[in-house]
Amino acid sequence: MNKSTSQIIGRFAPSPSGRMHLGNAFSALIAWSSARSQGGRMVMRIEDLDPRTQDPQKARLVLDDLRWLGLDWDEGPYYQSERQNYYLDAIARLDNKGLTYPCFCTRSELHAASAPHASDGTYIYQGTCRHLNAQEIAEKSLQRPPAKRLVVPERSDPNGTFDYDDLGYGHQHEILADDCGDFLIRRSDGVIAYQLAVVVDDSLMGVNEVVRGHDLLASSARQSYIARLLGFEPPRYGHVPLLVAPDGRRLSKRDGDLDLGALRARGIHPEQVIGSLAHAIDLAEAGEELTATQFVERFSWEAIRMHVADVAVDDSFILGR
Ligand code: GLU
Repeated sequence: MNKSTSQIIGRFAPSPSGRMHLGNAFSALIAWSSARSQGGRMVMRIEDLDPRTQDPQKARLVLDDLRWLGLDWDEGPYYQSERQNYYLDAIARLDNKGLTYPCFCTRSELHAASAPHASDGTYIYQGTCRHLNAQEIAEKSLQRPPAKRLVVPERSDPNGTFDYDDLGYGHQHEILADDCGDFLIRRSDGVIAYQLAVVVDDSLMGVNEVVRGHDLLASSARQSYIARLLGFEPPRYGHVPLLVAPDGRRLSKRDGDLDLGALRARGIHPEQVIGSLAHAIDLAEAGEELTATQFVERFSWEAIRMHVADVAVDDSFILGR
């Protein structure tokens, strides 16, 4: 797991919460194509931190769907559920820097005390628990177990400002104090927060290119911040448009007829799925079928940069043209 100096190392990082839908397939296809088109390697990591997703059968289905699409990897699968020690070690290092604190806020307290809301519907933590003294912490700990937050730099501190170029969405400018405030690195039920685990894993696995759905664009600054605190080089980021239902909702379990399990059961071929995804970013004609390898030959980030709006899909996306 040594970090290579120049080779691109990308990754798949699926959360096995159900069957993959077309949006997951699209992100995975682009992550793989970006790495492969640069002669890079791919790591497979199953993001099953949440005990509700720790179902080996679900993980197997995700791996099988990716293979069915023609996507492969060189290392893994790693399972986050087996990597607690790495995360706890990272948290201890942040504790030692004096940058963490216990947070006792309940969900309703957070929402009551957290206007203004960031544009993506998440809240900006106002630092309610940042200055509790030892006695207050002891008293509150008797009521409920705390979560843990990471302190972000003050608005005026340049260490809390992140400027970088996303491969898909171009220049990004984020100020952590304005965009999220002090954020969770461990939940009150003890589950490690996604933001922390993903940084630890990407760094230890040598990942230097992170490609994923646009919904995670705003996480990149938080993740670069954690990486820097832990002495890791942040990866470069490439975000890709989301596939949404015709009414603009994110695809979810409710759209089960568009998940890969359902499409496979209906006799759809992987080349039809990849051809349709390619057509959505003008890399294929309507109705054209493509293998993953043929897709890579046509792929460039320019195709994503020209198509950053969410893509609405329904049954006709695959079948009805
Ligand atoms: N596990 C996340 C998901 O499936 C992706 C995390 C990431 O790519 O950073 O949505």
